[in-house]
Amino acid sequence: MHSAPAPLVDRFGRVHTDLRVSLTDRCNLRCTYCMPAEGLNWLPRAEVLTDDEIVRLAGIGVRRLGIGSLRLTGGEPLLRRGLPALVARLTALGVELSLTTNGIGLARTAAALKEAGLHRVNVSLDTLRPERYQEITRRDRIEDVFAGLAAARAAGLEPVKINAVPVRGVNDDEILDLVEFAAEHGYRMRFIESMPLDAQGAWDRTKMITADELLAVLADRWELLPVERQHSGGDGSARRGTPPAEEWRIAGTDTLIGVIASVTRPFCGGCDRVRLTADGQLRNCLFATEESDLRALLRGGADDDAIERAWRNTIARKGPGHDINSADFRQPDRPMSAIGG
Ligand code: SF4
Repeated sequence: MHSAPAPLVDRFGRVHTDLRVSLTDRCNLRCTYCMPAEGLNWLPRAEVLTDDEIVRLAGIGVRRLGIGSLRLTGGEPLLRRGLPALVARLTALGVELSLTTNGIGLARTAAALKEAGLHRVNVSLDTLRPERYQEITRRDRIEDVFAGLAAARAAGLEPVKINAVPVRGVNDDEILDLVEFAAEHGYRMRFIESMPLDAQGAWDRTKMITADELLAVLADRWELLPVERQHSGGDGSARRGTPPAEEWRIAGTDTLIGVIASVTRPFCGGCDRVRLTADGQLRNCLFATEESDLRALLRGGADDDAIERAWRNTIARKGPGHDINSADFRQPDRPMSAIGG
């Protein structure tokens, strides 16, 4: 009989309670800030974790390591065959379950995912203009995203958040429009600073709209009231997790706006996240340059004790945070599309 899990604490006292699971590296969009038009060399199916392997690893995380929330990511997780069945098995672990998607196919699956136990969803949408959507994603699918958002809300996924990456000279003139669109439809708007995680290695800091710039645009239109961050996990001895987004409420409304300022206002000091890639590699940081091969352990017949040890060792090696702002920064070899948000 297993006793209460010892928290998954790193050498800086951060408690890791949030597991992000990439279900596939494949995607049906070709966003210019993420990958080339021709796509990437996708993982062969045999290298991708099976549903049984994902459920086993997530189970070890929840039962033995204090994982309290799971986020399903990709590539594009809706491309995963039999997703509702996998969601139902993960829901049975009794933790909060969310998903990040580009929204293509969500109109078709939202109700089944809700039925299977999914709690909430984040949908990536950087523009409201069809022609600009096509420029950014190299696909003419914006109507699918609008339909997906509406279906998620109708299915009762709550909250339905929109993630937008403002890029200078591309979509930074739509910041206010996106907030109004979200408020009008009952979605929650979040802006994410662009990060150096693209497959092409072409990230340009000068094109990044900083949190300060973003807030200046918003504050020019509305009075913004800061919302206290809801910390997760932690007790007197170990540091509580800090959610990535800083939030503001528009005065006199219930409209919340989130800003994820990974580059200019890093929140690594309160990081509670650990990531599992679609090919079973454990990453202790989004910007990690090394990984632990849990798939090899799984397929090598390792027992849960060995997997737990490997997981704890990976977190024990975690650095203080990303060093994007230092001269020594080295972009990870694995692109965001194969890590997941
Ligand atoms: S960059 Fe790494 S350490 Fe910092 S918040 Fe993200 S995952 Fe955590």
